[in-house]
Amino acid sequence: MRILLVEDDMDLAQGLQLALREQGFTVNQVSLGQQALASIRSQDCDAVVLDLGLPDIDGLDVLKITRQKYAKLPVLVLTARDGVDDRIRGLDLGADDYLVKPFAMSELFARLRVIERRLGTASSHLIRLQNVELDASAHQVAVDGAVLSLSRREYMLLKVLMESAGRIKTREQLEASLYAWGEEVASNALEVHISNLRKKLPKDFIKTVRGVGYSVSPA
Ligand code: CA
Repeated sequence: MRILLVEDDMDLAQGLQLALREQGFTVNQVSLGQQALASIRSQDCDAVVLDLGLPDIDGLDVLKITRQKYAKLPVLVLTARDGVDDRIRGLDLGADDYLVKPFAMSELFARLRVIERRLGTASSHLIRLQNVELDASAHQVAVDGAVLSLSRREYMLLKVLMESAGRIKTREQLEASLYAWGEEVASNALEVHISNLRKKLPKDFIKTVRGVGYSVSPA
C-alpha cells in the first residue's frame, strides 16, 4: 500500500518513514499542505497520513479538499494532544481514523492494516501458495516452515506477486510498488531482486512472462 505521509516535523517524519517502510509500506513524505494536495491530485497514493498542524495551510483544509474530490481515499489524521476540537472537526470532515500525538508506532501500523484490508490491497495476514507461506503481520516468508532471510524489497516484491497470484504483474506495476516516489531506480534492479528471490524459493515459483512481467501460480 502506498502511503502519503504529510508531516512537517522532520524528526517525526523521518522516523515514521523509516518505520513504515520496514513494515512493507511504500511511503512518500511531504511537509506542506500544498504538496500534499498536488500528490493527492496525481493519485499516486492509496492512503494519507495527515498531520493537522502544517506550515502553509490548515491540515483540516487539506482534508476537506481531499474529501470533496476523492471521497474514498482513506485519510488517517494525526492530531496534537490538546486538539480535541480538531479531532472532532476532522472526523466531521470525513477522516477515516485519527491518532493523538504522541502515539505508539504499533498503533499506527494496526490502524493502517485495517485500511489496507478494507482496500483489499492485503486480503489477509497469511497467504499460502504451494509450500510457501507469507505472513504479512510478521513480515516473514517461510518455505516448508523454514523462515527465509529476505531484504525489505525482496519481501515487498514477493508480497505483491503472492497477493495477485494467478495474475501477471507488469514490470511497471512491480517497480511502482517497490519504490517510493523520487527514489533512484537502477534499470536492472527488478531483475536482480527477482533473481535473488528465486534462489531462495522453490524452483519455478516465480514465472517470467516474457516481455511483460512476472507471476506466481494461484495454487
Ligand atoms: Ca505539524
